[in-house]
Amino acid sequence: MGMGGELLLVRCDALPEKRQVVFEFADGDCLSVSFWWFGHTHYAAEGKLDKHKMSAKLGPNALVVSLKEFRVMLAGRRGAVKSFLLNQERIAGIGNAYAHDILFLAGLHPLRTIDTLTDDEVKALRNGIRKGLGMSLRRGGAWYELDLYGKRGKFTEKMLLVGYREGKPCSTCGAKIVKIKTGSTSSFICPKCQPLKPKRPRGKKKARS
Ligand SMILES: [Zn+2]
Repeated sequence: MGMGGELLLVRCDALPEKRQVVFEFADGDCLSVSFWWFGHTHYAAEGKLDKHKMSAKLGPNALVVSLKEFRVMLAGRRGAVKSFLLNQERIAGIGNAYAHDILFLAGLHPLRTIDTLTDDEVKALRNGIRKGLGMSLRRGGAWYELDLYGKRGKFTEKMLLVGYREGKPCSTCGAKIVKIKTGSTSSFICPKCQPLKPKRPRGKKKARS
């Protein structure tokens, strides 16, 4: 449901007050699960995650996809680039909060369609994914999240490039960042750095419909 929660591995005598499910281990550690709003907890045996109904359909991990694999994943697709990034069955691990900066880093408008991307743009997108997620990962995640051991992330809102920065100047060109509607989600973009029209028109002429 697009909701989050916390998974915490702590000593069983230091469990957080708010928790819905607890797994107790023989060594005195406990895995506690708490939801921000609501959710499900599923248990899968070791090595069986790729068969479990909740995870079997997940696409490849966004952080380990090679450029070659990424090109294969995009081949023949025509949808908007942002919808692709957020579809966990296509590529796993990118949330809406990170998609804004990933697309900014790649210089792509969220509504650009995949079939209009040049080879260079595909490369820029794949690099943008690594860089955009890496900025937060290096700091232990976002400020509103805890890691498995309860440590709060140090990636703060101020470190975002365009995400949630409506009206502020773009760090590259100074233009005002705008918030636009993109299907069921909102997007934050620099209208100058991320034009909807491809920067360089493709050589091939399109047949008229
Ligand atoms: Zn800009």
